[in-house]
Amino acid sequence: MNESINVNRVNDSLIYVYGCDENFEKLVTAEFISSAYTVKVFHKLEELELSINSCRPFVVIINSPDIHNTSLELDAYSFLKKLDTTTLVIVSTENTMEYRLQAIGLGGDKFVCRPFNTGYLLELVNKLKPDSREDKFKVLLVEGNEPLSDVYKDHLSKCDFNISVITNPMHILDALDEFKPDIILIESLLHGCQVNNIVKLIRQIDSYTLTPIIYLLSESNLKSQLNGHNIGCNDYFVKTSDVIILEEKIRFMARRSQLNSGFNKDYERLLREQKYYLEAMNQHDIVSSADVSGIIIDVNEKFCEISGYSREELIGKNHNLLKSGNHDEEFYSEMWNTISYGKVWHGIICNHKKHGEEYWVDSTIVPFLDEQGKPYKYISARTDITALMKSEDRLQRSQVFANIGTWDWDITSGDIYWSDRISALFGYEDKVPLSSYASFLNAIHPDDRKYVIDSIDDCVLNGTEYNVEHRVVWPDGSVHWLHESGDVVRSKGGKPLHMLGVVQDITSRIEFDNTLQEAKDDAERANLAKSKFLSSMSHELRTPMNAIMGFSQLLSMDPHEPLSIQQKESVGEITSAGQHLLSLINEILDLSRIEAGHVNLSIETVDLIKIINESYHLMMPLATKRNIEIKVSSALSYLEGNTNIVYADYTRLKQVILNLISNAIKYNVEYGHIDISCALVEESYIRLTVSDTGRGISEEDIDKLFKPFSRVGENLTEVEGVGIGLMITKKLIKLMGGDIGFNSDYNTGSSFWIELPISYDSTIVENEVKSYENVTSDIISEDCKYKVLYIEDNPANLRLIAQLLQRIPGIEMSSAHDPFLGMDLAYEYVPDLILLDINLPGITGFDVLDRLRENEKTKSIPVVAISANAMKKDIENGLSAGFDDYITKPIDVTALLQVVREKLNY
Ligand code: ADP
Repeated sequence: MNESINVNRVNDSLIYVYGCDENFEKLVTAEFISSAYTVKVFHKLEELELSINSCRPFVVIINSPDIHNTSLELDAYSFLKKLDTTTLVIVSTENTMEYRLQAIGLGGDKFVCRPFNTGYLLELVNKLKPDSREDKFKVLLVEGNEPLSDVYKDHLSKCDFNISVITNPMHILDALDEFKPDIILIESLLHGCQVNNIVKLIRQIDSYTLTPIIYLLSESNLKSQLNGHNIGCNDYFVKTSDVIILEEKIRFMARRSQLNSGFNKDYERLLREQKYYLEAMNQHDIVSSADVSGIIIDVNEKFCEISGYSREELIGKNHNLLKSGNHDEEFYSEMWNTISYGKVWHGIICNHKKHGEEYWVDSTIVPFLDEQGKPYKYISARTDITALMKSEDRLQRSQVFANIGTWDWDITSGDIYWSDRISALFGYEDKVPLSSYASFLNAIHPDDRKYVIDSIDDCVLNGTEYNVEHRVVWPDGSVHWLHESGDVVRSKGGKPLHMLGVVQDITSRIEFDNTLQEAKDDAERANLAKSKFLSSMSHELRTPMNAIMGFSQLLSMDPHEPLSIQQKESVGEITSAGQHLLSLINEILDLSRIEAGHVNLSIETVDLIKIINESYHLMMPLATKRNIEIKVSSALSYLEGNTNIVYADYTRLKQVILNLISNAIKYNVEYGHIDISCALVEESYIRLTVSDTGRGISEEDIDKLFKPFSRVGENLTEVEGVGIGLMITKKLIKLMGGDIGFNSDYNTGSSFWIELPISYDSTIVENEVKSYENVTSDIISEDCKYKVLYIEDNPANLRLIAQLLQRIPGIEMSSAHDPFLGMDLAYEYVPDLILLDINLPGITGFDVLDRLRENEKTKSIPVVAISANAMKKDIENGLSAGFDDYITKPIDVTALLQVVREKLNY
C-alpha cells in the first residue's frame, strides 16, 4: 500500500514521450520545452517502464505504438495500465476502429490522430496538467456510523486522498462550501433524513451538478442500487466489499470529475471572454439584434444615444423605423438578400433619428444560423461616420466650387484613384473612365503630353516639384486647361510608392490672361502709334518754328539794319510767343510723361511777380484783340512789402499762369475784365487768383473740368483749344506741392486759383535769357578763321544758319542742300566743323556721318546734328551713332553758338 502511494505521486511538469519517429519527437519536445515542461524521450519500452516506476510524469505520450493483434506485443505495453494519475496519450496515423479499441485496451486515455498541428498537442497537455491542489482528490464522506467512517477515513487517507467526514447530513451544505470535494460518498441510510432529498439538494447546486456521488449500501441489493442511480448517484459501493474497490472507484471517478471541472473551467473562461468581447463591442459600436423579419430584439446604449429613441421605444419595432429615405428599395433588398442567405452584409447606411436628423453608420450585419444553417436572428454592429460623411461632402462641395479634383496613383500597381470631381474636369458627366495612367495620358492634349510625362518622371525619379499647366481634350473635342500639382510618397528606403495630385480647371484664367495679353499688346501698339504721332507732329511743328524763331532772332541781331525800338519790341513778342509755343509743343510731348508721373521739375525759389509780369505781357496782345482789360495791380501791390517768392519750377509755373490767363481771355466776353490777385493763405502759401467776367461754368459741368480733352460750355468751336491745359496745370501744381481750384457763377464769371508754398530762401533763380546781341558780340570779338560746312535740304534753315554764321568774322560757312554734294564738299575743302541735318533726301544724316567717318580726310572732323527729331530717344540715338553733339530745331541760337565755340575750340 505504501509503495502504491509513492508511485502515484506525479510530477506535474514532467512528460515522457515514447516513439520511433525522431522528427516527431523532436518537434513535440521543442514545443513542450518552450512551454516550460520537462520532456524525456524514450525509444525503448523497458527504459520507459523503468522511468515511470521511479519518477512518474503527468503525461505519457506514445507515438504510433505497434499494437497490432498479437497479444505478445500488447503485453509489452501492459505496464502502462498501472498508470493511474498519469494520462496516457496515444498518437497514431492509424484511425481505424480496431486500432483505436486496441489503444484503449492499452490503457490510453486520449487518442490523437496525426497529422496535427503541434500546438494542438500542447493545448491538450496543458489541459491535462493537474493543479497542485488536485494532487490529492478531495473526498467528502457523509456517514452516520462513526466507527465505520473512521475506518474509511483511515484507509482512504493512506491512498493519498484528502478526506473529510460529516456524520450529520444537515451539515452538508457547509461542507460543500468549505471543502469543495471532487467526489462525494453518501450513506444510503442516514439517520433522521431522506438521502434522496439530500442528493437532490446537492444536484441543485450548479457547481455540483456533475460531481460524482457514490452511494454506500449496506448490502448488495439491486433495488437499492437502482434507487441510487435514480436519485442522481453515479455509482454504488457495498460496504461489505473490499475497500480497495472503493479506492479504485474513487480514483477513477475523481479523475473524471477533475477532467470535467477542467472542461468546465475552459467553458467558463470562454464565456468570460465572450462577455468581454461583447463589452468591448458595446463600448465601441452601435449594436442591435433583430429577428428574421427585422423586428428589433435588443439594442445597446449607443444605439439609443445615436437614434434618440429609448430602449422601450425601439424593442419590438421594425428596423424600418430608422429609414432615412436616402437609399432606394434596391439597396435594402440587396442587403436582405445577403443576410437571409446567411451571409454577412457590410455597407454604409444613412438613418434618421427620432427627431428627423440624419446620421450615417458604417454597418456590418451578421446572421446567426441554426443547425440547418438558416438565420434565426441578425446582429448589427455600426460605427457612427456622420462627421466623416459630412467632411467628405464638404470636400466634394469645395472641390466642385473650386473646380478641383484629386488623384492618387499607385505607382507599383498602376491603379489610379480619382475623386468624383475629376470626371467633370476631363469632360465626363458621370464616373471618370480614366482607370489607369495610360488612359489619363490619353486625355492630355497631344502637344502637351510629352511635357506632362517628363514632369511626372522628373518628380518620381528626381523629386522635382510637379507643377504643370497643360491642356486636355474633352470627349466632345473641346480643349480645356488644367493646373496640376503633386508629389510622390516614398518608402523609408526612398522607393516611390504613390503619387498624389491636385487638379484644377484654369481655362477661364488662361482665357482671361490671353485677353489681358491682347489688351496689353493693343495698348502697347496704341502707345507706339501715339509716340510716333507725337514725334512726327513735333517734327512738323519744329521745322516752321525754326524759321520763325531763327529769323526773328536774326532781325533783332542785325547790326547793319538795326530795328527801331517798336520793331524790336514786336520781334521780341514774336520770339517770346514762339518760345512759348515751343514749350507747349514740348508739353504735348511730355503729356504722357506727366500722366505717368515721370516729369522732371526743377523746384527752386522763384519770383512770382516776375512771372506774373512776363505772363501778363505775353497775354496782353491776345487780350487787347478782344478788348479785355487785365488788371494785375492788386496782385503786385499786395505782394509789395510782403513775401513774393515761392517754391516752384519757373517754366512750369509760367505755363500754369499763362494757361489760366489764356483761359480767362478765351472764355471771357468782349470788353470783359480780368483781375489777377494774390493773397496769403495760412501763413505759408500764396494764392494767385485769375478772375474773369466770362460765361462761367454751369453746375453740371463742374465735375468735368481737370479731365483730359474735356471742354465744357457752348459754342466751343469758336474758341481755340483741345481741353488738356487745365489737366496739365493741375498735375504740375500738385507736383510743385501746391493746389488748384475755382469758383464760378454761371454767366457772371469764373475765378481760377492756384496756391504755392512760400519760400523763405532769398536766393532767387535768375531765369533771364541772355540777350542774343551780347552772345553774338562775344563771338565777333574773336579774330580767327574756321571753315564750317552745313548740309541741309530746307532752304529756310540753310539761309537762317548761313545768315547767323556769316556775320561772325572768324567763321567762313559753306552749305550744301544735297547730302552727296555735302560729302563731296567735305572731302574737298575739309572743314573744321560740319553741321548736318538728319532728314535728308535719298540718304539719312546717319549714313552721311558713317561715310564721313570712313574717309581719311573727314574722319576726325567734328559733326554736329541739327534736327527736328527732338525726342529724348532721338538725341540718344544721334549721340550713340557718333555725332559730336545734337542740336534740336527750332534752334536756340545761344545753344548753337555755344556748341560751335566748343567744337572749334574758341
Ligand atoms: P482748352 O482751353 O484748350 O479747351 P483747358 O483744359 O484749359 O482746355 O480748359 C478746359 C475747359 O474748361 C475749357 O474748354 C472750358 O470749357 C473750361 N474753362 C477753362 N477755363 C475757363 C474759364 N475761365 N471760364 C469758363 N470756362 C473755362
